[in-house]
Amino acid sequence: MPEIKKLLIANRGEIALRIHRACHEMGIKTVAVHSTADADAMHVRLADEAICIGPPSATDSYLNIPNIISAAEISGADAIHPGYGFLSENAQFAEIVEAHGIIFVGPKPEHIRTMGDKIEAKRTAGTLGLPLVPGSDGAISDLAEAKTIAAKAGYPVIIKAASGGGGRGMKVCTSEDQLETLMQQAGSEAKAAFGDATVYLEKYLGNPRHIEIQVFGDGNGNAVHLGERDCSLQRRHQKVLEEAPSPVLGQADRERIGGICARAMADMGYRGAGTIEFLWENGEFYFIEMNTRLQVEHPVTEMITGLDLVREQIRVAEGHGLSCEQHQINFHGHAIECRINAEDPRTFAPSPGTVKQFHAPGGMHVRVDSGLYTGYKVPPYYDSMIAKLIVYGSTRERCLMRLRRALEEFVIEGMKTTIPLHQALLDDPEFQQGAYTIKWLEEWLAKQDAN
Ligand code: ADP
Repeated sequence: MPEIKKLLIANRGEIALRIHRACHEMGIKTVAVHSTADADAMHVRLADEAICIGPPSATDSYLNIPNIISAAEISGADAIHPGYGFLSENAQFAEIVEAHGIIFVGPKPEHIRTMGDKIEAKRTAGTLGLPLVPGSDGAISDLAEAKTIAAKAGYPVIIKAASGGGGRGMKVCTSEDQLETLMQQAGSEAKAAFGDATVYLEKYLGNPRHIEIQVFGDGNGNAVHLGERDCSLQRRHQKVLEEAPSPVLGQADRERIGGICARAMADMGYRGAGTIEFLWENGEFYFIEMNTRLQVEHPVTEMITGLDLVREQIRVAEGHGLSCEQHQINFHGHAIECRINAEDPRTFAPSPGTVKQFHAPGGMHVRVDSGLYTGYKVPPYYDSMIAKLIVYGSTRERCLMRLRRALEEFVIEGMKTTIPLHQALLDDPEFQQGAYTIKWLEEWLAKQDAN
């Protein structure tokens, strides 16, 4: 069985640190790669070796496949972990890594490819028995056919780009007379944004929650689920705060949907970590997509299961299989993650700058994943997330109390951050009750602006 001795981390920021930490706990040496803008970043400082792979622009550095492969060869790394974002869901990258005899810490390239195409993903999910949003069976270009499918699903419907991502390339259509125009618009916007005009159609759910299931497969037909995360608190389809378990799901619901997902992954021969995303309305789950990588919000699952997901990924990549079976996975207590961005908490305008003061909260059951330190200059070129605060409590109520205390302690000076947004959310009675859907945060923000 191949043992990983040195692992190259093809990412930056908090997730690069997260991977480095798991590696060092396993006795694995790390190689950081970085752009010229990240020479002083924490992930570069902590890694055993660091290699500059290009100028600030991500296209020239963190997405630069030849430079990353060269860095792996020069440093003698025997594995690459892609983190999330950047090259993590690029099937061709995974293939190139493997063609160079390097272990890719992630799923099989063919599974990344299948799930990356939304139509193919939906078809596969259907075959594997996952519950789907009613709609077209595949791509749709013919207006008459679209009308028939939309009438059957019931208006409103949503027209989505097959190659879409990041919440882009979607059009909600409320009546048949808009269908032709919106299909054309969606197609040409998809072509411009993703180079592919293919669209499909599904029922638009009015007020769902976003609930996702964490899955893990060993690549040989064994798979487990690690329960759900509720990521309904979103702004412009971007997650702001995540929690596990979901405030609306009971143990029987969890076991049912989790069991369906785990069986699907076992049938597929899926390898490594994955997340199956669903919309949830009136007690029913509807598959929307699968992410074939580690998610930003994975720590809430770690908090309630006690498992280290990056360690599991590495074990699976080495061929050891999963460290536990389904019956050994237990869920305890409640965890919440706040994404802290370098942004104005009201306007969300980016606010990069130099960290004048940094003090992370601590104490029992408080985790901060962040590459910040006093004197660090947050570069303007990348995602604005600068820290994740993850808090555990034996109950949701205790978790909320602890989160409030931890946010009070958190000091980040030198830029605006979204800490005050999280504090205001915690004071809201509806949030406290867990009574929110994917539309709730935007409506709440509009109300705050009106005051
Ligand atoms: P992307 O890959 O662009 O993130 P998704 O398919 O995951 O696209 O959808 C992103 C978001 O769009 C969902 O979280 C949800 O808010 C909304 N959405 C997608 N499909 C539907 C639907 N059928 N009904 C209602 N909202 C939807």
